[in-house]
This record gives sequence, C-alpha cells and structure tokens, in this order.
Amino acid sequence: MNIKEMVDEFLVCPKCKGKLEMSVINETTAEGSCHESSILICRNCRVYYPIEDDIPVLLIDEAKTIDGID
Ligand SMILES: [Zn+2]
Repeated sequence: MNIKEMVDEFLVCPKCKGKLEMSVINETTAEGSCHESSILICRNCRVYYPIEDDIPVLLIDEAKTIDGID
C-alpha cells in the first residue's frame, strides 16, 4: 500500500474528521533553496498538514492555513 492509498483509506482530518487530499507545494528553505513538500489538505478547515519522511503529521498544532497556496 502506498502513501496515497493510505491517505484515501485511513487518514482523516484531526479537527473535523473529514477526508484529506494529498498535494505538493513548493517550499523555500531558510537557505533560500526551493523544494517540493507533500502535504495533506483539509478543504473543510482550509488547512494543510505536513508529510515528513513519508509520515503524515496529523496534529492540529501543525496545521497551516491553505489560504495563498491554492
Ligand atoms: Zn478538517
């Protein structure tokens, strides 16, 4: 099972228990270089959660607003 199937099958938003959508954003590091990061978006809450080393970080404290990225 890959991470996308895992997201579709098992993972829900920790706030609203709604469905999450996997996406990729470009992030700029502190050094100024750009890299792609996978994220999980909750359209209900208009937030996203990071995926770090293929592990979704579904913590309300880690949620960031999606305003401005889509
Ligand atoms: Zn939500």
